[in-house]
Parts: sequence; C-alpha cells; structure tokens
Amino acid sequence: SLADRLQEAFKKLRGKGKLTENDIKEAMREVRLALLEADVNFKVVKTFVKNVSEKATGSEVLESLTPGQQVVKIVNEELTALMGGSEAKLSFDSSITAFMLVGLQGAGKTTMAGKLALHLRKRNRKPLLVAADIYRPAAIKQLQIVGKQIDIPVFAMGDKVSPVDIAKASMEYARKEGCDVVLIDTAGRLHIDETLMDELKGIKTAVRPMETLLVVDAMTGQDAVNVAQSFDDALNLTGVILTKLDGDTRGGAALSIREVTGKPIKFSGVGEKMSDLEVFHPERMASRILGMGDVLTLIEQAQSSIDEKEARELGSKMMSKEFNYEDYLKAFEQMQKLGPLNKIMEMLPGMNSKEMKGVNLEDGEKEMLKTKSIIHSMTQKERRNPKLLEHASRKKRIAKGAGVTIQDVNKVIKGFDNMKKMMKQMGGMQKGGKKGLFGK
Ligand code: GDP
Ligand code: MG
Repeated sequence: SLADRLQEAFKKLRGKGKLTENDIKEAMREVRLALLEADVNFKVVKTFVKNVSEKATGSEVLESLTPGQQVVKIVNEELTALMGGSEAKLSFDSSITAFMLVGLQGAGKTTMAGKLALHLRKRNRKPLLVAADIYRPAAIKQLQIVGKQIDIPVFAMGDKVSPVDIAKASMEYARKEGCDVVLIDTAGRLHIDETLMDELKGIKTAVRPMETLLVVDAMTGQDAVNVAQSFDDALNLTGVILTKLDGDTRGGAALSIREVTGKPIKFSGVGEKMSDLEVFHPERMASRILGMGDVLTLIEQAQSSIDEKEARELGSKMMSKEFNYEDYLKAFEQMQKLGPLNKIMEMLPGMNSKEMKGVNLEDGEKEMLKTKSIIHSMTQKERRNPKLLEHASRKKRIAKGAGVTIQDVNKVIKGFDNMKKMMKQMGGMQKGGKKGLFGK
C-alpha cells in the first residue's frame, strides 16, 4: 500500500543525525514512485515532490525532531495541503436548502444520499430524499428502501415525470412537510454524455442547490479525476464526495482531485452501511496515508459510545509525556466498545504495516485480552510510572500474576513504548504550523 511504500522510503532517513541533499533526493525518488504507483496524477506528484524537497532542504531542523521525523512532518503537511488543508463545510440556505448529488452510474450516489440524510438528521436537520433518477431500473425503489431503513421521507413521482419537474415539485413538498434540506439523487451514466449533463443543468437551474456534489468512486483512481473535471466544467461543482475508500483503493483520487479541480472533498464513504460516512479531514487523511493511523477519527467515533470528555482527555493524554499504563488500559477498554478489531487496527499508528496485515484477528482479540490481564497484574504504582517496569523482578512478578511468560510482558511494554513514541510524534506534528502549499 501507499502507506507501506512511504514508510519504506522514510525508514532510510531514520536514525540519521544529519541529512545530506542526497539523502533527501533518494527519499523523494521513492516518494515519487510510491505516489505514481498509487495512481496520483503525475503533475500533482511533480509539484508535490518539488515542494517537499525544497522545504526539506531549506528548513531548519526543529530541536524536538530528528531529521527523518522532520521530513515526515513536511510530507505530512504537504499532503494535508494537497487535500485542501482543512475541513470543507456544507453551505446552507436560510430557507430550504437543496443539495444535488451527481456522478457516474455505480459511483454511490443513492447510497450517499441516504448517508448524508442520516448525517444531517443527527445535526438536527429535517432532510427529504428525492428520487430524480428515472432511468435506472428500480432506482426509485432503491432510494425508497434506503429511506425506509433510516426513517427519512422519500419524494418520488414515478418514472414518467421529468427529473427537472420532480426536483421542482420536491421543493414545494419539502415546504409543506416542514423539511429543510432536500437531497436530490440524480441519474448517472456509464460515461459522461451531453443529454445527462443537460438534464443535470436543468435541475440545477430549477432548484438552485447550495451544493452540487460530485460522488466519485475512489477505486477508479485517475479516472475519477477526469470525471471530476468534466462534471465541474458542466455544472460548476461545489464539492466532491469520495466513496468506497474502505476498499483497496490506492489513494490516488484523494490526493489528486482537490489539486486538479480546485474543488474540496467534503465527505468520504467507507462502507455500504448508512453509518459508513466520514467528514473528510485532510490532515487526518494525510496521517492515514502516512500510516500514522487516525487517532482523531478513532477518538471521535469513541465519543458516540463513550463519554466525550473522557475521550478527549484520553486523546490529549495519549499524546503527552504522562501517558501511562492506566491510560493504555483505558484506551484498550474504550476500543473494545468501538467495534470490530480490524476497523480499529486500521486507524492505529503503526498498525498499517505489512506485518499487521497477516495477523489473525481472533488472535488479535486474544492478544488484547492478554495485554489487559498483564496490565491488570501491575500495581497502581507501576501503571502510573512505566519506568518501574525496567526492573526484571517486577516483570517476573507480573508475568506470574497474569499467567504469562516474561516475553509476553516484554511485548506489552514494547507495544506501550511504541505507542507512546508515535503519539508524541503525532502530538508534535499537530502543533506544527499548517501553512497551505498553494496559498489556500
Ligand atoms: P449510484 O448508481 O451512484 O446511485 O450508486 P449506488 O448508491 O447504487 O451504489 C453502487 C454500489 O456501491 C452499491 O452496491 C453500494 O452498496 C456500493 N457502495 C456505495 N458506497 C460505498 C462505499 O462507500 N463503500 C463500499 N464498499 N460500497 C459502496
Ligand atoms: Mg442511484
């Protein structure tokens, strides 16, 4: 994966006291290859590598970072800038807001319409789904099923009325029913064609949507970028939504679309379930691409199942020097509330590596239990002061108490140390400046 390749490229910089221009050149050569392999647009790659090289060569190494970490930090910042810098919010009208979802067939528009409706309702809006795809067989039915599933009203007029008229009528219906956001699910084609574009333009003129959102399948890589450009030319998009980011995408679309079209990515679809929607955060995506995991997303997800304040405290504690085994244990316990281990693992720093891919998840659950029992066998003093565990006699006692070997205890200590190191690094990065690359 891209994360593996990038980590590989940075590995060689690690542990070096000073970086020569040649070191950077070599690392950048590998970064370039990794990005191209991930199907990132070659012009974007070129600019990206040039920018990173300039910054890496010219920058003063911060005292708190090794030169290798410094390069990773720069790459992280540039990736973030490439994807738009910061979160792009939806715009709303003072009365009824219309959002139009457009895109090729199979991109995930209908699914996304449902996901967005659910997302908006959670934010106290009253959405209405509108079935304006009258061509694809059973498209209307599909939206109705989605609506039923999440208990959101669906406006449909069958397949004999023109999509433009359906869209117009839906605004009137929304007013009558007290809905304040209208989500129009439009038709797609396998390829872009004039007839489709004209129809979409017609809908746009009729309802004046606040957002014209292009839904694109992230798995299509560079094609997604071309599609985005054509739709933007015809419809003047306000944003892009990437779907199927849960799949085996190479990441190219996420990295090129914003730079090539200038349009922000606002959401991503990460599965087939209605709740599989994420607000697109460039900085989090960048850390994910770099294989540093996505602790913030994890913490945010935790908030729905655990106490928000506790999660926030844990999050900042995890990134601070005081991070200890009590926090580690708490983190494990909160994680278990979050759901399937594989999803969680993807988001954790260091868990993206090749080695982890082969790990049997059942073993993973067992490992987690073992880790917990080892931490439980520590005294409170030990948990709060991880340094105490350097004593062999303590390790021996803990191993005995937990019914495991000393090696097992050492593994937990190593895992904890790694986590602490990673978290500290991430904490440092987030405090770093966020100046955009392209002046945005
Ligand atoms: P439309 O033709 O653009 O309306 O696309 P649909 O919403 O009908 O989706 C096409 C297929 O992609 C369906 O089987 C969806 O379940 C699937 N799909 C949509 N979004 C996602 C996603 O984020 N992840 C995954 N894995 N599948 C998705
Ligand atoms: Mg559809």
